[in-house]
Amino acid sequence: MNVLHVASEVAPFSKTGGLGDVLAALPRALAQQGASRVTVVSARYGSVDPQRHGLAKRLRKLTVNVGGQHFEVGLFEGRLPGPGPQVTVYLVDHPLFSDRPGVYGPPSNPGEGYPDNALRFALLSQAAISLARELSPRPDVIHAHDWQAGLAVYYAQQAEWETPPATVFTVHNLMFQGLFSLGEVQSLGVRPELLTPDGIEFYGQASLIKAGLQLADRLTTVSPRYAQEICTPEFGYRLDGVMRARSGRLSGILNGVDYDRWSPWIDGALPARFGKPPAELEALSEEAFAADLSGKARCKAELQRELSLPVRPKTPLLVMISRLTEQKGIDLLIEWLDAELQNRGEFQFALLGQGEPAFEQRLRMLAERYPTRLALRLSFDEGLAHRLEAGGDFFLMPSRFEPCGLNQIYSMRYGTIPIVRAVGGLYDTVVDFDARSRSGTGFTFLPFTVAAVTNAVRRALSAYHSDESSFLALQKRAMRADFGWATSARAYLNVYKQAQSGK
Ligand code: ADP
Repeated sequence: MNVLHVASEVAPFSKTGGLGDVLAALPRALAQQGASRVTVVSARYGSVDPQRHGLAKRLRKLTVNVGGQHFEVGLFEGRLPGPGPQVTVYLVDHPLFSDRPGVYGPPSNPGEGYPDNALRFALLSQAAISLARELSPRPDVIHAHDWQAGLAVYYAQQAEWETPPATVFTVHNLMFQGLFSLGEVQSLGVRPELLTPDGIEFYGQASLIKAGLQLADRLTTVSPRYAQEICTPEFGYRLDGVMRARSGRLSGILNGVDYDRWSPWIDGALPARFGKPPAELEALSEEAFAADLSGKARCKAELQRELSLPVRPKTPLLVMISRLTEQKGIDLLIEWLDAELQNRGEFQFALLGQGEPAFEQRLRMLAERYPTRLALRLSFDEGLAHRLEAGGDFFLMPSRFEPCGLNQIYSMRYGTIPIVRAVGGLYDTVVDFDARSRSGTGFTFLPFTVAAVTNAVRRALSAYHSDESSFLALQKRAMRADFGWATSARAYLNVYKQAQSGK
């Protein structure tokens, strides 16, 4: 199986969120699970330094035709770092990418988007297909990700091939749809017949995510639950009708996590190491496990010191690392925090994140009012993210919707018990705690209300205080949960086969 991925991000070259991480890991996992060749095509943004990444510039340029306009693009070639079989990365080089400081928009306000984003990502999509037609052997499958690569599916189907590749399209977040004017999208070479509601028209505009959703042989999204949810009006962002119509071709496959970076026994960002690989943990007696967690206790004390919170081993410490947006339920979090802090709830809370200025402002005011119980860091800090995962007792994620979510998975590996709203990937990865049957890996709630968060946190704190042995067992179950990439990569290989056989 020879697979070519098209995506607007691939870490470590570029990353603004989970998409970049998936493109860093999934291609390698596919190669490890037996794909004969895996290639990634993305863009060389101004922020990518070819020298630092050891990228080689291909001598011959590629001529790319976007709606009759011809672009000469360069290609940087490199490899995804990491052990195992090699994955080749091609970064398309053109001033439309390299002359900008940001990936999607100006760094001061990325959400705004560059005005020519339709053309930029059409160019990336068409360049990927032009390159695919030159490669030998040709790819069997073109796997396109999110709206930026929606047109790659269309262009692949328009191109001439001896044997046309199958196409797979993955939705990482249905909220971002790539909406542009019909005229602009027609100028990218899209046939007018396609610019209808049955095609890619969307309430008077053209939707590039809809191109991927309507045209690809198979669709996937990043968790089984999110695959069901996006077929409903509540989560479908007005595309639920399209999703329902194509639900027979849609699979939900959980993102894996990179345990080489997120395991507390090898994590260089921590003041003390603890934990063990799942198979070794299983064999530990309760005493040996509790002794091992003394490393976690040290991480907690150091974290409290770092955040200028009182160093109290027995006060539960709730943590959160998040973009501060409505998607992540920050409005609900603030309402709940405000009420609990006023009620003198017995816990400390630490939050690392950045996002909407109104949320930052309200959080800042709370942190000023309750400095001994709320620590706030409005920055992007990878090291602190690791120390929060290690030093916290609980990790809170009250998301409105969550396609997959990574932090709840990291936190389990660090024995930091997730308290999550049971939506999307949170539903699929966290099992609600049950004291009697000694089962579960966290605490879940469903209504998007302060009462529901309050109740879930109270249950969590009561488990923390009431029965040490039961809480230790909960931590051990969470630390043993395994969400590596191998299983997910095998599921993708299956989807590729289904796409090829037209099922
Ligand atoms: P999303 O991709 O929707 O933002 P995820 O939970 O899937 O949410 O992944 C977010 C990733 O970004 C995680 O690796 C998380 O640790 C990291 N992250 C988010 N905000 C920050 C921050 N302020 N500092 C450091 N890391 C962050």
